[in-house]
Amino acid sequence: MEMQQIFVTRPSMPPYEEYVKMIEPLWESHILTNMGKYHCELEDRLKEYLDVPQLSLMVNGHMALELVIQAFCFPKDAEIITTPFTFVSTTHAIARNQLKPVFCDVKEADGTIDENRIEDLITCKTVAIVPVHVYGHVCNISAIQRIAEKHGLKVIYDAAHAFGVRYRGKGIGCYGDASIFSFHATKVFNTIEGGAVSFAEKELYDRLYNLKNFGIRGEELVAEIGTNAKMNEFSAAMGLCNLKYIQTAIEQRKRGYDLYKRMLTGLKGIRFLNGSSEATGNYGYFPIVVEEEYGESRDALYDRLRKNGIHCRKYFYPLVCDQECFAEQYRTTELTVARRLAQNILTLPLYEGMGEDVIERIVKQCLRAGERK
Ligand SMILES: *Cc1c(COP(=O)(O)O)cnc(C)c1O
Repeated sequence: MEMQQIFVTRPSMPPYEEYVKMIEPLWESHILTNMGKYHCELEDRLKEYLDVPQLSLMVNGHMALELVIQAFCFPKDAEIITTPFTFVSTTHAIARNQLKPVFCDVKEADGTIDENRIEDLITCKTVAIVPVHVYGHVCNISAIQRIAEKHGLKVIYDAAHAFGVRYRGKGIGCYGDASIFSFHATKVFNTIEGGAVSFAEKELYDRLYNLKNFGIRGEELVAEIGTNAKMNEFSAAMGLCNLKYIQTAIEQRKRGYDLYKRMLTGLKGIRFLNGSSEATGNYGYFPIVVEEEYGESRDALYDRLRKNGIHCRKYFYPLVCDQECFAEQYRTTELTVARRLAQNILTLPLYEGMGEDVIERIVKQCLRAGERK
């Protein structure tokens, strides 16, 4: 019998009939995009769910970040302090705005930017900090805010992993000057492709609207040089359907996450990353750190799992700053922890509706090389 393949993720989908019912009226209205009914509805519903003051939907998470950085009109060649331990989109969004990423090391415990190393990297060219709530782990928001205020910097969070996370009783998107979310198929909440920017300042809404819709403000008026980053009605409809089930999706992920943790705890050389106790989790990912005492390298474990039909990801390896397109382009900083983490990290499969038997099969493979303490 052929071995059942297990992938690192599986997109959440609503019941087929519900989606079809939702899109049926589009054959009546013939309004498929350009801030239609579902676009507006989803924007409102997400503002509520994410508990943020302002929100602008985008075609994807990357454009959300690229455009919100653009919206702040930083001078060309200015520097932005960010993390190398992230998806390449974070750095692309900075570089594509003709700004310079300055990479800051991260913390061993949760993989987020090391707030104690930020100030050393600040120069007269620094204009902003772009931290990432990696795996949904919340950055040290109050320390980052203090640094930003002291030096007059903007803070734009890449919250692509942090959908639905709450911190100190507020939605995660309430912190900093802005945050971006990704609704890509593989994320905790999806609109097939999609994303959003949350922010406090009302004026930013119009600015982002211009940037995502060619700067068009009237039939005969183009006020700004914008691009096209609008979400279409089919995606918004998918979002409205998926949003109904988000609580169940997160609960199911939590069950898988807890089971992994219970079964892998005490395995020599396997370490977990831990989020802040003041934040709620969304259980988007299950990363483990494979340390020396495990008896097998991360790469060896990855290969062995793969041979057994289990497809993990080395999220995030290599570090973004070491990718061919960025290597040796930017000021180098010491990234000891980030390098070690990238070398040893492995993200195990986790998704909504994942069977316990599937997790048991994965854990069994992990136990094969490791030893109980
Ligand atoms: C997914 C992701 C993005 C980009 O989101 P898309 O919706 O795929 O464009 C940005 N940053 C991080 C950290 C991500 O994981």
